[in-house]
Amino acid sequence: MVSQNQPTQTHVVLIGGGHSHAIALKLWGMNPIEGVRLTLISDSIYTPYSGMLPGHVGGFYSFEETHINLNRLVQLADAQFYQDWAIGLDLEKNQVICAKNSPLSFDYLSIDIGSTPATISVPGAADYAIPAKPVSQFLTAWNTLLQQVKNHPHQPITISIVGGGAGGVELALNIDSHLKKITQQATLHLFHRGKRLLSGHNHWVGHRLETLLQNRNISLHLSENVTQITPSKTLICESGLTVENDYIFWVTQASAASWIKSSGITTDEKGFIRVKDTLQSVSHPHILAAGDVATIQNYPRPKAGVFAVRQGKPLFKNLQNSVLGKPLKSYYPQKLYLSLIGTGDKKAIASWGVFGWESPLLWDWKDYIDRQFMKSLNG
Ligand SMILES: Cc1cc2nc3c(=O)[nH]c(=O)nc-3n(C[C@H](O)[C@H](O)[C@H](O)COP(=O)(O)OP(=O)(O)OC[C@H]3O[C@@H](n4cnc5c(N)ncnc54)[C@H](O)[C@@H]3O)c2cc1C
Repeated sequence: MVSQNQPTQTHVVLIGGGHSHAIALKLWGMNPIEGVRLTLISDSIYTPYSGMLPGHVGGFYSFEETHINLNRLVQLADAQFYQDWAIGLDLEKNQVICAKNSPLSFDYLSIDIGSTPATISVPGAADYAIPAKPVSQFLTAWNTLLQQVKNHPHQPITISIVGGGAGGVELALNIDSHLKKITQQATLHLFHRGKRLLSGHNHWVGHRLETLLQNRNISLHLSENVTQITPSKTLICESGLTVENDYIFWVTQASAASWIKSSGITTDEKGFIRVKDTLQSVSHPHILAAGDVATIQNYPRPKAGVFAVRQGKPLFKNLQNSVLGKPLKSYYPQKLYLSLIGTGDKKAIASWGVFGWESPLLWDWKDYIDRQFMKSLNG
């Protein structure tokens, strides 16, 4: 810890430029601590805002409108930018192991690296399907697909989306609406293991989205367990259903980077970092974590951007309190949270507990909230 009167070079390292870290960097810039060196390790300068990503795919927002400029926030916080991938932790030496640069020592560490859709359990998925995360790789594939369709609008194209949670459904609706502006030759399939879509939400929302997909001629395959993807992108289900594809997008359950668990830090059964209410690791209190990569021991919640955003401020406060030797404060994530799901037609569906609504006004509201959020970070 440092005293504010006695500057030393305490080093605080942030891994990942997720939503919580973007907010923490901004707040740090507004409340700097003398004698503390701050470093962000991030693979990319531009990090996507999850709330607007499907809208970007739908063609409603540009890349710049949907991505947070981390370089700007790093400069505001007077921090250093290490553009690199963290690939491990040495918890004996308190070092982050990076893909390109030499190991980086830290006094306090914060991790906000998100999650990726789990491909490991389905043979062929990691090699022949395109996971929705990392988003930069997903967008590269999406832009290739778009260009292909623009160049050959009369050529049939088949696309499957695997995963019937909010992310998968919103993506399917936005892919559909964008492609329909360019071609009449696209066939879309959505596969979901469960009996109904968005099982974490109320029944009305799931059923309404099912109807919307059917109205748009997107083939919905419920209770279908995808068991294999072949090199020719044929998708095979446990039931025997087989679909040949040109592209397969993978938007299934969130999984954690394997290096987290192998570093020796305590994780939950899925490999996410177990944290206390203060966002401190239960095993290594000088390490904090937020967003998808963290599981709050007492209050597990779905992996959703809304929580990563909410954790930005408490993460920032507790990082600074750790450095200053002050008591850390508990954070209690709300149980009920509002989801606004864009339907790719400038309308949105709201889900809040047992309630659900659909309206173009909800899209206007979502658009306003999302743009305000981006303005607060990108200026
Ligand atoms: C298609 C889709 C749509 C979604 N829509 C919504 C929505 O509308 N609302 C909602 O609440 N949630 C939504 N989600 C979920 C949401 O994306 C996540 O919950 C949210 O992004 C988590 O934020 P985070 O801060 O934990 O991490 P992220 O936003 O994933 O950010 C992590 C950052 O860390 C970087 N990083 C990762 N690993 C490393 C490493 N090893 N070294 C350095 N940098 C690294 C990444 O490149 C990224 O910039 C959606 C998800 C998907 C897939």
